[in-house]
Amino acid sequence: MYGKIYIIGIGPGSPDHMTPAARKALASSDVIIGFSLYVSFVREEFPEKKYEISGMQNELARARRAIDLADQGMTVAVISSGDAGIYGIAAPTLEMMQRKGSNVEVEIVPGISALSSAASLLGSPLTNDFAVISMSDLLTPLEVVMKRAEIFAKSDIVTVIYNPRGSRFPDNLRKAIDIFAKYRDPNTVVGIVRNAYREGQSVKITKLSEIVPEEIDMLTTVIVGNSETFVYRDMMATRRGYSKKYSIDA
Ligand code: SAH
Repeated sequence: MYGKIYIIGIGPGSPDHMTPAARKALASSDVIIGFSLYVSFVREEFPEKKYEISGMQNELARARRAIDLADQGMTVAVISSGDAGIYGIAAPTLEMMQRKGSNVEVEIVPGISALSSAASLLGSPLTNDFAVISMSDLLTPLEVVMKRAEIFAKSDIVTVIYNPRGSRFPDNLRKAIDIFAKYRDPNTVVGIVRNAYREGQSVKITKLSEIVPEEIDMLTTVIVGNSETFVYRDMMATRRGYSKKYSIDA
């Protein structure tokens, strides 16, 4: 009898932002596999489960382990923060299943990604089209990362930056910001959210010309607004275009 693999996005970190479907899948799993920080978010709620904790870079190893356990008949939960399909464990797991020719049952449970979490704390910056980019060049060549950054910068598209600055890529954010500065107004609104919906949460709204990349780390999501992004009270939001199409009176 084969088991089953759930690939679960657990949300940003607070129990309130984990979906009931994610909770149900965790409850029905025999073993939960994940990176230590994410495991700590679910452990309190499911202390009786078996856990296998791994280091951050071990995605394929985690996937392989999940498949092996499921092949032995276990129900296995592989967890990611946010949504497992967004810079998460879902695709590496599917890739490993394909490599191994595994026929085990698999279900992907969506979660609230950092982009929704960060956007909600900032106001509503992602109202219209937006692009998402990771500053990590561990798996994507740096030229590709910067080429995409340039295309986004030129396109006046609101841009969400994941993995903004890690110890193994400390300078990429600075490089990307320099590219944005070539094409966008220095006053472009930028939102910086660290530890959204978990301990140590901080939310900052600043300008493109005032970002200090050295103050930004891997627990942070950065949202660079576009020419339609404005600040209202302590929030940032992007106009959708209503004011051009209709005359809006208060
Ligand atoms: N699958 C995750 C993203 C994993 S990549 C998701 O959908 O959210 C890891 C990056 O996500 C971090 O470097 C950071 O940029 C962002 N991130 C994840 N959780 C966050 C949180 N609670 N607050 C701010 N940024 C977060």
